[in-house]
Amino acid sequence: MSFDIAGFVARVDANRSIKDELMGRLKETHPRQRISVTDLVNPRRAYMQRVHPEIQPPSERKEAMMAGKGFHDLFGHAVSSEEYLEQFVEWGGVVGVIDVYKDIPTELKTTGEIDDGGDLRESRSSYIEQLAMYCAMVDMRRGRLILYGRGSAEKDARLSVYDAVFDDLDSVREEMGKRRDALVSALAKSSPDNLPSCPWLGRGCEFESICGCADAEEFVPSIAMKARPLEPNPEEAKRLLSMFESSKPARRTGLNSLVFPRRAYYDGQRGDEETDADRLGSMDRIGHARALADAIEFGRGADSTRKLLSLGEMQDRVTYFKGVPTILRTTKFNDVVSRDNLTRMFPHYFMRLAFECALVGSANGRLILHYEKLREESKLMVYDVTFSDLDDLQKEAENRLLVIREVSEGRRSPNELPPCPAWFKKYCKYQPSCGC
Ligand code: SF4
Ligand code: SF4
Repeated sequence: MSFDIAGFVARVDANRSIKDELMGRLKETHPRQRISVTDLVNPRRAYMQRVHPEIQPPSERKEAMMAGKGFHDLFGHAVSSEEYLEQFVEWGGVVGVIDVYKDIPTELKTTGEIDDGGDLRESRSSYIEQLAMYCAMVDMRRGRLILYGRGSAEKDARLSVYDAVFDDLDSVREEMGKRRDALVSALAKSSPDNLPSCPWLGRGCEFESICGCADAEEFVPSIAMKARPLEPNPEEAKRLLSMFESSKPARRTGLNSLVFPRRAYYDGQRGDEETDADRLGSMDRIGHARALADAIEFGRGADSTRKLLSLGEMQDRVTYFKGVPTILRTTKFNDVVSRDNLTRMFPHYFMRLAFECALVGSANGRLILHYEKLREESKLMVYDVTFSDLDDLQKEAENRLLVIREVSEGRRSPNELPPCPAWFKKYCKYQPSCGC
C-alpha cells in the first residue's frame, strides 16, 4: 500500500505572527548613501530611488533581483576564490563592486534569454557601460562580460562570455564625472530636470507616474557607443561551465533521498549525462533559494539553529527556526493553496517535514511557503504543523533507507523504491523507463 502523508498530519495552523515578521524582513530595503556605478547607468532612476524610497519595485522585479543575486553568489564561488569576488572599487567619489576581479574586471549579468547576433552595445548598453566604468576605475582596458540566460520553455539556459576592450578610458572617466555631477546637482536642487530619461523608459518603471520623464532629454549611452564591438569567447564559457561541475558537492543519501528515493536513484545513475543547461538551471534554483533564506534570515541569525541528524548511515541537518524544525520551500503556484488542500498539493514538503520531526522526536514542525509569483501580502505563508504517529513515521523513514541501501547494493530492483508523488511523473525526465 502506498504511503499517504496526509494520514499523519493532525493539524495545520497558519501562523500570522511569524508570517508578518518574515514579510517585514523581505520588504526591508537599505537606502544607498554613496553614488555608485549602477547609479551612473540610470542617473534619473537613481535620483528617484533616493528621493522616493517609499516607492518599491513591483514584486516580480524584486523576485527576479533576488534570484539574480542568488545565482551571482553561487556562480562567483564556483568559478573564483574568495579573494577575487565582489571587489570594492572607488574613483572620484563613485563606488562600485566588481563581480570577479582577478586579472580583468568581470561582470556577470542574468537575463531572460541571450539574443544571438545582435550588437550588445545597443541591446545591452547598460551592461557595457557598467563594465567600461569598472575598467576605467581600475585603469584596465580589457574587461569581460558573462551573460547567464535563464532560458524559457523553448530555449535552454546558457552561459555566454564576451571580451571587451575600451580604448579610451579617459573619456569613460570624463563621462562618469559628468553624470556624477549631474546627479549630485539634481539631488542638491531636489529636481531631476537636468537628468535625462533612462534606458528603462517604457519597461514598467515604478516611478513612471511621478518622474516626469516624458519631457526629459533622451539618455544617450555614449560610453557603450564608443566601445569596440565585444568579442564572444566560447572557450572561456566552456571553461567556466567545467568549473561548475568540479564545484558540485558529491551526491549523498540525505533527507531528500527519503522523500524522493526513486528520483535520487535515477539522478545518481545519470551522473555525467547532465547538460550545461541542467547545471545552470540547478545553480539558478539553489541560488534563488539561498537568497530568499538570507533575505528572511532563515538558517542564520539569532532565530535559527542547525542540528545534525543521523539515521543509520544517513546524515543531514535540520534547521530549527524559533525553536521548531522548519523547512522553507518555494512554489510557482499562481494562487495560495487552501489549508485543506496543502497535503494534497505539497505531499513532498509535508513528508520531508514529517521525517525531520519524527527523526528528532518533535510532533511539531513548521513550513514556510514562498509563492514566488504572488504579490507582497500573499508571498509568504507560514504553517505550524502537528504530526501524529511519530513512531510509524520513523519506521517508514528506516524502511525507505533500507530499500535505498539494498538497491544500491544490487540486492533489490529500483522498482521497489517508493515512487515520487503521483503528479511528479508528468514532468519527470525519467519517464517512461522508471515505470512509476
Ligand atoms: S520613470 Fe522613466 S526616467 Fe524615471 S526612473 Fe523610470 S524609466 Fe527612468
Ligand atoms: S518517473 Fe515517477 S517515480 Fe520515477 S523518478 Fe520520475 S516521478 Fe519519480
